[in-house]
Amino acid sequence: MNSLKSLVLIIPVFNEGDALRTNFLEIKRILNQDGIVCRYHFVDDGSKDHTWQVIEALSKEFNEVSGIKFARNFGKEVALRAGIETVDADLYLTMDSDLQHPPRYVKDMLRIMSETNADIVDGIKASRGRETLSHKFFAKTFYKVLKWITGLKMDNSSDFKLMNRQVIDSLRSFNERNVFFRGIVSWVGFKSVTFEFDVADRLEGTSHFSFGRLIFLAMSAIVSYTSKPLYLTLFAGGLFLVFAVVMGIQTLFNFFFGNAISGFSTVILLILITGSMIMLSLGIIGLYISRIYEEIKRRPHYLIEKRVERH
Ligand code: UDP
Ligand code: MG
Repeated sequence: MNSLKSLVLIIPVFNEGDALRTNFLEIKRILNQDGIVCRYHFVDDGSKDHTWQVIEALSKEFNEVSGIKFARNFGKEVALRAGIETVDADLYLTMDSDLQHPPRYVKDMLRIMSETNADIVDGIKASRGRETLSHKFFAKTFYKVLKWITGLKMDNSSDFKLMNRQVIDSLRSFNERNVFFRGIVSWVGFKSVTFEFDVADRLEGTSHFSFGRLIFLAMSAIVSYTSKPLYLTLFAGGLFLVFAVVMGIQTLFNFFFGNAISGFSTVILLILITGSMIMLSLGIIGLYISRIYEEIKRRPHYLIEKRVERH
């Protein structure tokens, strides 16, 4: 099917030592069964367990396996980026290591790509698999807010994506450090077709994304994608100004006509509201400044400690 084009699977892994070998063998078994020839490129995102030893062993055993190991945990987004930057192929498929992106769909994704001549086949979660209620709720809210702020419709979007070389080359040209992979893939445009898949349950271990980490990821995604929140603070400030002018005129009016009423609670309330609005706006500005600060330091995006090449 993809006999003329080389395909590489980019698989980010973090502390998956126990399940990695079995999961890899399962992925490989299914792809082989479907007649798909490909290589596997692992990015060990600074695991603390024996993940890297497993990758090394796999690469000794199978010559289609290669991998890099980060010096520390840089996060999945960075791992995906490092993955696409450190391997050359015609087609790239990003996939989770925990079989939640079922390998049986790869065949369909390749078929859709060649049939529609698309540059990106974008995996969309038809069902979200087994997730905690709070996780589900949060993901929903996150995508709603994201859509509202950025206009990006990414409900149930995932990192299960097949991309061709052209897309990868444009992704590689991004210099910024904080990239939200899903956002950036839709940002680059090209011809993208969506593909619905059912998320499988995670068999071993639990998700690495705690509630706190998801909130952080959400903020980071919004800040790295758009500067609209800054305009929002400006807008809120403008609204408050209008309100203040109206209230001011009314107060002066009352004062001059001698019927100023004592409004202690109103004053307290107003101070509290404006106070929190100011703090919120400062916080938003602060987020952007911290981003600028991080970017301006020009540190490397990730540090590779070890690598194993294909042999
Ligand atoms: N992962 C990673 N770095 C991290 C966290 C996760 O590379 O800091 C990998 C993880 O090993 C897995 C994939 O990203 O292959 C998805 O992670 P997970 O299953 O924990 O998240 P979820 O399924 O909840 O999105
Ligand atoms: Mg998972």
